[in-house]
Amino acid sequence: MIIIMKSDTPAAEIERVSSELRRWEITPEKSVGQQKVVIGLVGDTSEIDPRQIQNLSPFIEQVLRVKKPFKRASKEFRYGEPSEVVVPTPNGPVTFGQNHPLVVVAGPCSVENEEMIVETASAVKAAGAQFLRGGAYKPRTSPYAFQGHGESALELLAKAREATGLGIITEVMDTADIEKVASVADVVQIGARNMQNFSLLKKVGATLKPVLLKRGLSATIEDWLMSAEYILAAGNPNVILCERGIRTFDKQYTRNTLDISALPVLRTLTHLPIMIDPSHATGFSEFVPTMAMAAIAAGADSLMIEVHPNPAKALSDGPQSLTIEGFEQLMLKLAPLAQFFGRWTKIPFATATPNFAPRVSSTAGVST
Ligand code: PEP
Ligand code: MN
Repeated sequence: MIIIMKSDTPAAEIERVSSELRRWEITPEKSVGQQKVVIGLVGDTSEIDPRQIQNLSPFIEQVLRVKKPFKRASKEFRYGEPSEVVVPTPNGPVTFGQNHPLVVVAGPCSVENEEMIVETASAVKAAGAQFLRGGAYKPRTSPYAFQGHGESALELLAKAREATGLGIITEVMDTADIEKVASVADVVQIGARNMQNFSLLKKVGATLKPVLLKRGLSATIEDWLMSAEYILAAGNPNVILCERGIRTFDKQYTRNTLDISALPVLRTLTHLPIMIDPSHATGFSEFVPTMAMAAIAAGADSLMIEVHPNPAKALSDGPQSLTIEGFEQLMLKLAPLAQFFGRWTKIPFATATPNFAPRVSSTAGVST
């Protein structure tokens, strides 16, 4: 159940209503949007008549029951206002959200050595990425495949962060590693295979570290939002969803199937920011640019793209990794498209596309 307070409600009145609700043994959670203050009610509200709540204060505009099983993740919980995940990075804060420029995350599947990670970080930064991705702990189908360099790779990510100022996104697979990973990562990734690792979700939920929640290989949209709900319910509001392709029946020509329809569907269901990963979604580097462009057209808030200085020699996911040149070329294509859809930022793309720079300032409503 949610309570929408009138826009001129004094803070003291919101507090008074909240304490009254606490006495009814339900937990009120205040969410302050740009237009409204919404109080979400957590606990068993099945016996409560919305009119009882309505009578608590003349400042209550509306009381609504959220019928969906995901509550905090639901669009209603923020009264339709998109949430923003603001991530501090050495280069300044970067915001993931619907009313913000596209955020590009790029880097290798795995951190292999210092030279490659620092080289890739500098190159993707120059081409316009704001985040470096790279796995230290890798979820591999085969126990005999490269498992990631673990802790030493985290140190290399820290070096790349220091060298470039890029934010770092890397996966945490084990609850025991959360603190270690979070000490280097600006955003911790929960991979597709762990989307329903509920212990992991609860533990990252107990921190305030931004979490990138990838969609499970065969997860429905509701499964995925229920997993986001675990993180939100544990107290962490900083969740970004990442569509990375789902299992369908083709194994030969695509690795997964990018569910581009998830984007407009999620927009009707949730306030959370949405990222698209065309690399894992397709499995082949030649298809990544097309799907990255499709993702922008469908309204993605962010893209995650695998880039490797020598994909043929990559220790994981080489076939789907763009070369550095390939990534630079792609960014040149994405820039005008993102600008067209009002998701332009002059900072990253300005170096790569000087010709486009003057048009940036005239893009209404796009903050940089
Ligand atoms: C990855 O990002 O390298 C990864 C393993 O992704 P996913 O969990 O989507 O397969
Ligand atoms: Mn990968």
